Amino acid sequence: MPLKYFIDPVTLVKLEINKCLNEGLLSEYYPLPFLIMCASVRIWKGVPSVTQLINGTRMEYLKLTIDYAIKPSDMAFAVIGIRAHKKLESFDTDISFPEEKLCMEDITGTMDLLEQQPNGDWWLQDYKTWGSYKIAKCLGIVKTEKPLLDEEGNQILLKTGKNKGKPKQEKIFTRDSKAVDMTDAILQLNRYRMMAEEALQEPIKAMKIFAIVRDNTTYIAKSRGIMEEVYYIDVPFRDDKRVDMYFETKKNNLLLALERKIMPTICTEHECWEGRRCVGYCNVNEMCRLVGDNLYLKEETVNEMMPVARGIYQGYENIHVEPQSGRYDGCDPTAQSIPDDGRESL
Ligand code: SF4
Repeated sequence: MPLKYFIDPVTLVKLEINKCLNEGLLSEYYPLPFLIMCASVRIWKGVPSVTQLINGTRMEYLKLTIDYAIKPSDMAFAVIGIRAHKKLESFDTDISFPEEKLCMEDITGTMDLLEQQPNGDWWLQDYKTWGSYKIAKCLGIVKTEKPLLDEEGNQILLKTGKNKGKPKQEKIFTRDSKAVDMTDAILQLNRYRMMAEEALQEPIKAMKIFAIVRDNTTYIAKSRGIMEEVYYIDVPFRDDKRVDMYFETKKNNLLLALERKIMPTICTEHECWEGRRCVGYCNVNEMCRLVGDNLYLKEETVNEMMPVARGIYQGYENIHVEPQSGRYDGCDPTAQSIPDDGRESL
């Protein structure tokens, strides 16, 4: 299993997960059930999942081919999300299908909730426990400022501080459809929709994300215009052919790389969050750095580390990177927006 180690939060030493779970290593920092949840990863059976294909191909390839390590504390929000999902899924009703597992064209997907409305329409829903930053992006919240006025309509001036005498500003939050940034959710839910429509032989009339705000009531959430604890967010419909093309290309890229043992090209800017994921949120960034083509990661140690990289990569004579020309740029959802299929989101 490629996820093999936990990182000790103090010494940063890698410890085998089996030993942590069976011999109580790390018990002074984390309870055992938390570690068990952190260690649960989907077992690879040769069929990629929708969420796997939304991630960068290189990242998913490395997670399947090298032994990697995670810091259990980095999994805290993921564990909260899993628990919230499980609780919501446990309330099954006559008109809903929670946790529906489907497979279409050798891609698996698990929908959180497929629910029939009183008028007979089917809605597809996904639960998310997201931070306010992501929710603000999905809602397209734009912050502007305007001078604060008193009851008579006069500007209120600041009385102290370095801006003394200047008009006091009021923050205004508005929703702008042009600022909406929810590419991954659009791809994920549209693919689930296609799977559900195939299984039901009926159209899905709405796709929605039920988002629980992880950091609600905090100053930072309010500063982003996120004032509620939960949001019900409509996900736009997209053209089936384009969604299919995206997933087919990503699936073929991953399976071909695994079959030929060739390192996929670096993740796209969208997939690696303009480098933020590479630097702080990718569990296989150590190996990616050793490939030597990731400008977001320090490169000074690359040459001396190449023999080590080959050691880690047992069975691979060379770390050969798939040529750039082998990449289908159209599968970068940020390169060109996927056209709407004409259906209106409710
Ligand atoms: S470090 Fe960045 S580019 Fe490399 S696999 Fe991770 S996310 Fe992708």
